[in-house]
Amino acid sequence: MISRIDLRGDALPEGGALRDLLPRAEFDVEAALEKVRPICEDVHHRGTAALIEYAEKFDGVKLEQVRVPAQALTEALEQLDPAVRAALEESIRRARLVHREQRRTDHTTQVVPGGTVTEKWVPVERVGLYVPGGRSVYPSSVVMNVVPAQEAGVESVAVSSPPQSDFGGLPHPTILAACALLGVDEVYAAGGAQAIAMFAYGTKGPDGCEPVNLVTGPGNIYVAAAKRLLKGRIGIDAEAGPTEIAILADSTADPVHVAADLISQAEHDPMAAAVLVTDSEELAEATSAELRTQVAASKHIDDRIVPALAGKQSAIVLVRDLEDGLKVVDAYGAEHLEIQTADAAALAARVRNAGAIFVGPWAPVSLGDYCAGSNHVLPTGGCACHSSGLSVQSFLRGIHIVDYTRDALAEVTHHVVTLAEAEDLPAHGAALKARFHWKVPSA
Ligand code: NAD
Repeated sequence: MISRIDLRGDALPEGGALRDLLPRAEFDVEAALEKVRPICEDVHHRGTAALIEYAEKFDGVKLEQVRVPAQALTEALEQLDPAVRAALEESIRRARLVHREQRRTDHTTQVVPGGTVTEKWVPVERVGLYVPGGRSVYPSSVVMNVVPAQEAGVESVAVSSPPQSDFGGLPHPTILAACALLGVDEVYAAGGAQAIAMFAYGTKGPDGCEPVNLVTGPGNIYVAAAKRLLKGRIGIDAEAGPTEIAILADSTADPVHVAADLISQAEHDPMAAAVLVTDSEELAEATSAELRTQVAASKHIDDRIVPALAGKQSAIVLVRDLEDGLKVVDAYGAEHLEIQTADAAALAARVRNAGAIFVGPWAPVSLGDYCAGSNHVLPTGGCACHSSGLSVQSFLRGIHIVDYTRDALAEVTHHVVTLAEAEDLPAHGAALKARFHWKVPSA
């Protein structure tokens, strides 16, 4: 069911050559750009009418309005299963604990006497948070988007999630209830690229959506493509596409846990990736056998788990030792990386590229998906090499405030004039000279 890649022969290649040997989904966002461009343009020009048409085309729902009425949010919370409510509340409580500590304080540096630079952190004014709802619905993604935005101090928060035919065209009731629990009252029933375009351009009318400054949240290839297309008009977080799990494990790992964790992420999407990196032939064998047993007893077998595990994005990678294993997981840059080895904490401390790292046998990815306190909106497709998961920082902008006295400016003017002339931009120097009646003080 899952293929094998054996890297135990020669010394591992470096960088890009090593990445080329590793499994990865063909998640061609560039190709999807051409599909989503007309959708985004249509929403730009026709607004709500276009959103209603795409809801019918892609979600099989005839909508009367896109904005979710306040009453639907209240009712969803009233009707929420008490056990689900308690679990969501605990998820929110833990996420708040972690994200509150991420708040940044302003900092002033005295560069010279009379010359200071203050870095001031300002929340983005208005954000659009995307909560996926195609194959699965993700109330947990409401928590993971909204909590950091609120902790950052964002004043205006809108959420959008695909309309569901089973629920009269509203987003899933648990998503609505999660919004209500978090005090979010602006919710739209729009999915995919059209939701991102709605956030970027805004729509008019009584249930219209004001444009936002920043869009965050995970989603499928159409969501990722629309975010890439509209970046600039809006800010975006990292691309968070089909989920990935990589597990670095040795012979001390329990194959029952390893197989269960691989399946837990494969059940998201047929394009999800599950990769085991190990130096133990025995663990590889035992995990393959466990996968066969556990997959047969799973729920989303044929539509998601089997295609995800059998796809070219998933594999068991055999390495000579854990040092090579570390190189492999660093080259891969997984969204989720579990370390299940004898000395897991020491290895975890040496990993450079991962969206989130789960250390030892008692920190499975599923814990992070819901209740660890960490954020589950994480970079995929190798983007962990340059991007971070969602955090309070994603919703803040740093502004430098430059404050110099006359004397402090006079003291550095000759350097500024010299650099301006070196760049052949004499007006830059002149702007300083003018303040000193064209007499440039010498050093
Ligand atoms: P989704 O909400 O992202 O996409 C559903 C929408 O896609 C639909 O509403 C529809 O508008 C649009 N769509 C469907 N077919 C289309 C087509 N042919 N053309 C244009 N638009 C179309 O939900 P999903 O599909 O279930 O995907 C969710 C993804 O999010 C999964 O891959 C999951 O793994 C991922 N995810 C990632 C993270 C992360 O942090 N990386 C977290 C949670 C979920």
